[in-house]
Amino acid sequence: MKKTMLALSLLAAFAAHAATGPEFDAKRLSQDVKVLSSDEFEGRGPNTAGETKTVAYLIEQFKAAGLKPGGDVVKGQRSWTQDVPLGRFEIKGPVTLSVSDGKTVQPLKQGDDLSVRAAMNGSRLVDFKNAPLVFVGYGVNAPERKWDDFKGQDLKGKLAVVLINDPDFETGEGDFGGKAMTYYGRWTYKYEEMARRGALGTIIVHETAPASYGWNTVKNSNTNVMYDIVRKKPAEAHAPMEAWIQRDLAVDLFKRGGLDFEALKKQAQTRDFKPVELKNVTLSANYAVSAQVIVSKNVAARIVGASAPKETVIYSGHWDHLGVGLPDAKGDKIYNGAVDNGTGIAALLELARAYGKAPAPARSVVFLAVTAEEKGLLGSEYYSANPLYPLATTVGVINMDALSPHGLTRNFTISGSAKLDLLDELIAKAKQWNLVYKPDPKPEAGHFFRSDHFSFAKRGVPAISYGSGDDLVEGGVAAGKKLEDDYTTNNYHQPSDEWSASWTFASMTHDLGMLYALGRDLADSKVWPNWAQDAEFRAARDATAAQRK
Ligand SMILES: [Zn+2]
Repeated sequence: MKKTMLALSLLAAFAAHAATGPEFDAKRLSQDVKVLSSDEFEGRGPNTAGETKTVAYLIEQFKAAGLKPGGDVVKGQRSWTQDVPLGRFEIKGPVTLSVSDGKTVQPLKQGDDLSVRAAMNGSRLVDFKNAPLVFVGYGVNAPERKWDDFKGQDLKGKLAVVLINDPDFETGEGDFGGKAMTYYGRWTYKYEEMARRGALGTIIVHETAPASYGWNTVKNSNTNVMYDIVRKKPAEAHAPMEAWIQRDLAVDLFKRGGLDFEALKKQAQTRDFKPVELKNVTLSANYAVSAQVIVSKNVAARIVGASAPKETVIYSGHWDHLGVGLPDAKGDKIYNGAVDNGTGIAALLELARAYGKAPAPARSVVFLAVTAEEKGLLGSEYYSANPLYPLATTVGVINMDALSPHGLTRNFTISGSAKLDLLDELIAKAKQWNLVYKPDPKPEAGHFFRSDHFSFAKRGVPAISYGSGDDLVEGGVAAGKKLEDDYTTNNYHQPSDEWSASWTFASMTHDLGMLYALGRDLADSKVWPNWAQDAEFRAARDATAAQRK
């Protein structure tokens, strides 16, 4: 009884608050999600008929909300979209791989022993014989932490064997956020760093705990079609070979090269670590790669700022999902993506409608629906590499991905852990919305680097991905966890991620008030939020400080 009373009074408090800000409509949210995730939209795969329908729907809704086109300038006028050319890469024919220890040559199986990605450096054929293997520890070069795993090691013509996660993951204490993953721990960083060093390739040793997923995930996400933004100099971003290796095979190769894997891993957790070659162990590879360019689109709508139009606040979300794929047990082949990310796009449209009704803020506000998130954050990566509005004068980015269509909660979260003013401001705002911040319970999984805000963050723009809470006003954490587990197990990235008439959208209608207030305050103020002093993205932001006067 007491519990019910409390729940009722909380609900009353929520309701009272909702009256003071703009209204967000559960029916419209539901309708948007329903349309976007209908079978007619074919799972919203980039460069498909589903994309054409999605883009048309978004433009229609933004227009109806009274916004202006915010995309590419075509014949002197802003259009509603930004063209996003994407490279599509696929291994064609057999993948021939083998290791030699000087005595015997052992063939390796693609997907089982090693998972090799289609090359994205511009080569059509990856072909090398007896390339040396050099263990580079965690492969980290972090001057701000006085950490350099390379110690001048030349990697030209060599394959860098590297550990996943960062040097203090195992001990849980150190210069890299303890258990939480810094960007240095992410596999994308390892590939990028080795490409910068001109290595022939990167081979990441798979271990389940520090990777946070099993070998199957590695296999499934690396041996299929790869996408990248079209780059002027692709070889600067990708080495010819990018691969993962099974842990046990790696341990065996270390042994045959006269090395002790576990002992070296311990050393790699210290600043004194030096790269070491696996003596007489070499790898040979031969596989062909086909490459094509497809064009997809980001959609951008804009409210022009009344007094500082060149300064921009961005709300974002990805419109794409997985499209049509392998059928599930029921024979359903359409990956509708209702929660992921029909909800985030519905939220983006609802925010746009609220801004459209209100007087223009001082700064401009851009509503950005990006493509190809599911292919590796590519729409947001393309935007950040080719910004429609300068990043230096982009105040902040509030991203929304896979929100909860369910009931009111007492808390909210963001993807991953990060230290920045934008989060502090959100936490302060949340109090007025009776919400408390719940930090990501698994910061070691590196969720911060797995959503579209990250494409902005790594270039220094303060950016977060808001996430729905799990402590339901009705049912508490137990009910929230049940919903979350059910979604993860039964619907996440499956054809069954479909709209339901039973969804109340109560949490979204409530929390959107808070996200509106956060963006609105930024857009009406003169402040430039930044990263914490020791955040890895602070230096990139500070480098453009002169442009924010
Ligand atoms: Zn998503």
